[in-house]
Amino acid sequence: MTKNKGSWSLALLETMKDPLYRVISSEIAVVIKDKFPKAKYHFLILPYEDIPTVFHLTSSERHLKLMDELELLAKNVVEVTGLNSNIFQVGYHSSPSMQRLHLHVISNDYNSPCLKTKIHWNSFNTKFFWDVKYVHKEIRRNGKVNKPNPDISKQLLATELRCHKCDFRPKNMPELKQHLLSHITC
Ligand code: AMP
Ligand code: ZN
Repeated sequence: MTKNKGSWSLALLETMKDPLYRVISSEIAVVIKDKFPKAKYHFLILPYEDIPTVFHLTSSERHLKLMDELELLAKNVVEVTGLNSNIFQVGYHSSPSMQRLHLHVISNDYNSPCLKTKIHWNSFNTKFFWDVKYVHKEIRRNGKVNKPNPDISKQLLATELRCHKCDFRPKNMPELKQHLLSHITC
């Protein structure tokens, strides 16, 4: 059976309920493992409230509380891994494909079989990825965060590959993935 766009974009709602994917939760949000992790550790933090995307967040009391909670859960799940917080990136895709607001918490090894394409890489390693502090500050200041220009998002995802830890410019994804292993120390 083929799924239409509407149904696959709602798949996170199913995973939120699956105890196999739940890591930690609070009264208002839950941390799940990403089903197609793009690094050794890749979590998504989602509110129970039906907020479709980051563009629906406002500076209302409820949303301000939620944003604090999302940041707290990000800190807590990093603690669960026992790893140093400086190896994690925490933020939003500026043009998300899945519905229900979700904050990514991802380790910067990018060592995963699910990391396959230039789009995957650039979605975490260019300005397509918005740091949580920037987004929440913008919402507090401006009452919302504006959608990016679609042409700019497209350009960011098409950026030439470049290692995030050194100046290496791989020709393709297999070369980048091989190179990334050289940055893994343990
Ligand atoms: P975004 O581009 O921010 O919408 O990212 C959506 C994330 O959801 C990606 O990292 C996917 O790997 C992940 N994902 C896709 N389908 C599922 C699913 N059914 N359960 C959990 N995570 C998923
Ligand atoms: Zn490198």
